[in-house]
Amino acid sequence: MVYPGGVKALDDVSLSVGTGELLAILGPSGSGKSTLLNIMGTLDRPTSGAVEIAGQNVSVLSDRRLSALRGRLLGFVFQQFHLTDGLTATENVATGLLYAGVPRRRRRPLALEALARVGLAHRAGHLPRQLSGGEKQRVAIARALVHNPALVLADEPTGALDSANGRAVLDLLTTLNREGATIAIITHDSDIAMCLPRRVEIRDGRLVADTHGENGA
Ligand code: ADP
Repeated sequence: MVYPGGVKALDDVSLSVGTGELLAILGPSGSGKSTLLNIMGTLDRPTSGAVEIAGQNVSVLSDRRLSALRGRLLGFVFQQFHLTDGLTATENVATGLLYAGVPRRRRRPLALEALARVGLAHRAGHLPRQLSGGEKQRVAIARALVHNPALVLADEPTGALDSANGRAVLDLLTTLNREGATIAIITHDSDIAMCLPRRVEIRDGRLVADTHGENGA
């Protein structure tokens, strides 16, 4: 990936994520993690090379078809949660179904189900400002998972949390993975990466390591 101005942010990167995996994409600031996330998430198109999701070459799709595919097949979790202030936890989770082709009447029950999966059934009617940071991130995770995407991309999901809440969010992502979700966690924190079954390391836009095997927890 070459940005206008000539910065080569990714160079000769080849990465394949299988169904049911939980992996860390680990690298220091400026290494190219966000660029890779944007490309995997179809938010940006690579200068050269291809991206395939669930067997579809997305490089050839129009912007309209690409955003439809993104809504169906991908889920996103951000460091700062990105919940909508005026919506309850349930309504925030239901927005994850807007672009997934789920009829309106099915959205609320599915959202409640997803909130139960992240342990927040008792907070369904709360607004974001009535929730702790850890709870907000669990709502965001429920929103990312509610449509059963092929891949969840989590960008520094514990970055805005204290260590106890960060640990709880990581445990939750691990549990959801055991229940079948495919999850990539982008992080600069090697302690987090060490807890995950696969670690892909990126330095100066290149993949420098791809390690499998439980390491920590
Ligand atoms: P990370 O997420 O690991 O911090 P990034 O993917 O954001 O790394 O950045 C990788 C490199 O690409 C850096 O050198 C950064 O300055 C550069 N870069 C990122 N975004 C842009 C952009 N939109 N235009 C030009 N250069 C960029």
